[in-house]
Amino acid sequence: MQLNQNRYHIQGVDVLEMAEEFGLPLYVYDADKIIEKIGTLQSAFSGVQLKIKYAAKALTNVSILKLMRSRGIDVEVVSINEIRLALLAGFDPDQIMYTPSGVAFTEIEDALALGVRLNVDSLPLLEWIGQHYGNRKPVGIRINPHIAEGGNVKIQTGHVDSKFGISIEQRNQIRAIVEQYSIPVIGLHIHTGSDFKNADAFLKGAEVLFELASDYPNLQFLDFGSGFKVAYREGDHSTDIVDLGRKVTTAFQNFCQHYGRELELWFEPGKFLVSESGVLLVHVNVVKENPTRTFVGVDSGLNHLIRPMMYDAYHEILNVSNPTGEKQTYSVVGYICETDTLGWDRSLNQVRPGDVLALKNAGAYGFSMSSNYNSRFRPAEVLVYEGKPYLIRRRETFEDLMRNQIEIDFEEEITVKNN
Ligand SMILES: *Cc1c(COP(=O)(O)O)cnc(C)c1O
Repeated sequence: MQLNQNRYHIQGVDVLEMAEEFGLPLYVYDADKIIEKIGTLQSAFSGVQLKIKYAAKALTNVSILKLMRSRGIDVEVVSINEIRLALLAGFDPDQIMYTPSGVAFTEIEDALALGVRLNVDSLPLLEWIGQHYGNRKPVGIRINPHIAEGGNVKIQTGHVDSKFGISIEQRNQIRAIVEQYSIPVIGLHIHTGSDFKNADAFLKGAEVLFELASDYPNLQFLDFGSGFKVAYREGDHSTDIVDLGRKVTTAFQNFCQHYGRELELWFEPGKFLVSESGVLLVHVNVVKENPTRTFVGVDSGLNHLIRPMMYDAYHEILNVSNPTGEKQTYSVVGYICETDTLGWDRSLNQVRPGDVLALKNAGAYGFSMSSNYNSRFRPAEVLVYEGKPYLIRRRETFEDLMRNQIEIDFEEEITVKNN
């Protein structure tokens, strides 16, 4: 195939052709990128018994879950519906690690009935597990190590005022409950939030678990959660996985020797595995020259990609339909009636109405955080696998918006219509 070098391709498939075939706005994921990331992680941690539990909430499409499963990856979930999706994707219950935070105990009961594994996030839940299951349910315990790491405060989870996990300062209370009911503790978990800065910061959290492990002689794994930082633009700092692998492997091997047994080392990456694989393709509706700047209005917004507004996230933007146009400065904004800037003061190849822009790094927390705000449809999703684009989610329709709404007619006598 003759590729036009100026065009943006994913595995040889021109994104403009996908825009044509599937319509806009459109999420497109590159399976090769996901597979490459899995490989990077596996080789960086080849010196330990590594288990990767993909954090499904980052990108929850059932076909993505199936892709993960086909590559030997397990799954980490945070809700009963993510459990149902993972089961639908063919995961065995014991490949599913459920790490709920503040959910109803009835939901946890349902989850355990399905046979999944559980990380316990609070002392009351631990007590409840003891009362309901005695010594019959092996659990992991989520610890809050009180280490402030990570980027935006909204994604920090390990600091002292974070709602997540059981405080390391309650170590004795955890142990008292565990002993009272003989709860089998098979794992310890930390997830200190997204975007930790370097291996040393990560190791501080690991040390907390190594120390705590001496309370629990029957452990099978230590689960270090996630928080791998991904580069969103040129020059951005990202987690050096090779360096992390080397340092964590050494520390973990030392720990295992000390502990007396080789345990499994778990990670639960979401963003790291899928962020770079995704682009959001959007259509330019209007180019508006205001006195101070030029706005590009696109057929998308915070309803499809909320990260720029919610986390001040930077997503690189490319004009894929005019890749050789002269560079100019634009602010790219959405069509939502709310400020929804997707990119401020960006240098883009000349943008004209009808152009197609690509927002990069849109694989993680893109579609999965999308909504119907402004009664807009959520986009379709396409996965490019072995050089072929597959539609993995249809674009919504007006029927989808109305599906659960119940109309009441208030004229004359009241009538209730069920569609
Ligand atoms: C969200 C989450 C992850 C994944 O975090 P990323 O930053 O996307 O890698 C892992 N573990 C738990 C418990 C989570 O809630």
